[in-house]
Amino acid sequence: MKKSSIIWLFSGLLITQAVAPTSAFAEANSSDKKSVVKNVENKGFSEEIKKKRDALLRLDKEILSLEAEIKELNQSLKKEKELEKKKVELQEKEELLIERWEGFSNRLADWQIKGNPDMQFLEVLFGSKSFSDMISRAYTFQTLMTAEQEQIEQLQEATNELEKEKDELEKEVEELKQQKKLVEEKQEDVNAKRKKMENELKSLEKKEFERIQKELKEQEERKKRLLEEQVTNEQFNELRSLTKELGADMNSHFIRPATGRLTSPYGMRPNPFGGSGTEFHTGIDIANPIGTPIMATADGEVIKTVHSNQGYGNYIVLKHIINGKVFHSLYSHLSMVGVNVGENVKQGEVVGLMGSTGRSTGSHLHFEIQDENRQHMNPDLLLDKGEKKEKKEKKDDDDKASKDKKSKKSGS
Ligand SMILES: [Zn+2]
Repeated sequence: MKKSSIIWLFSGLLITQAVAPTSAFAEANSSDKKSVVKNVENKGFSEEIKKKRDALLRLDKEILSLEAEIKELNQSLKKEKELEKKKVELQEKEELLIERWEGFSNRLADWQIKGNPDMQFLEVLFGSKSFSDMISRAYTFQTLMTAEQEQIEQLQEATNELEKEKDELEKEVEELKQQKKLVEEKQEDVNAKRKKMENELKSLEKKEFERIQKELKEQEERKKRLLEEQVTNEQFNELRSLTKELGADMNSHFIRPATGRLTSPYGMRPNPFGGSGTEFHTGIDIANPIGTPIMATADGEVIKTVHSNQGYGNYIVLKHIINGKVFHSLYSHLSMVGVNVGENVKQGEVVGLMGSTGRSTGSHLHFEIQDENRQHMNPDLLLDKGEKKEKKEKKDDDDKASKDKKSKKSGS
């Protein structure tokens, strides 16, 4: 099978990559193997994978909101700078207060030292020139002392206020730090959870990838086996869906439509029904037992199905458009016609079963390719490329074939 389709199948499962971590498997994007995906998607680990992806999405949201919270807390923690400024301011104020207080208390102490608290006051008064001067001096001294006292009191008050502000700010900063610590712990926790879940998801995806690969390989092998066997009508239906979904192995314009022996080439030949003379053989004959699957030689549309006991017997005509050119392919003497007019078929898809209906001497496929004017063409020439490729693939499969032989024999 084509490698790209496996990759595509897997990437199909990763379609909700919104959360999906950059997976090594999520890559290519092809077109038409959707149905196989649908078949396998409902089984296996896909449900679990979906749940894990949803959970990851939720964790991502949580991480984002925690990050936002931390950002906000950091913004709030700019108050720390404010606190530092307040502390400096407070220190300056306290120093000033101490200075003032010391000055004031020194002057007061002076009076105390002289043993007469009124001494200084008296000296000031004695220096007076007159009574009114003395009164005035006494008043001034008292006023000055009161003013100083008031200033110190104001300074004390301002310092107290600042202290209070500082304490409040300190408390607030401490709380913010606590909060930040808690959020960071939570963030760490969520990140660890996410990492764990991501790993689980990756291993699940890998398992799913391997499961699908295995399933496809099994389908591919079953298809191959059935194509070489005589199949029943029931098997035909299974084989048709397998061949439609998996497509052809060979990538040629026209592929060989059945396994078997080439018993009669295209061109002039003696009359196969005996008697005298020759006839022109308009196609090729491939012989194998009745019930051998017949495949569409190329992608196309069913344009004719006939059920008859004469001439071609039961037969199918497909119409193909290849590189803009019209071709027709005809499959005759069938034991079973498995398609209806108007259906589209894929290259390699089974369309009927080999038989010996109509003018036939034994079970075989009479296969024709015609051009757009229904003129016969030599299928041998057209199939050439595909046959070579088929042979090459056969060789590749030889190793496997010997391994498969046992199961194949028991199956037929
Ligand atoms: Zn023939």
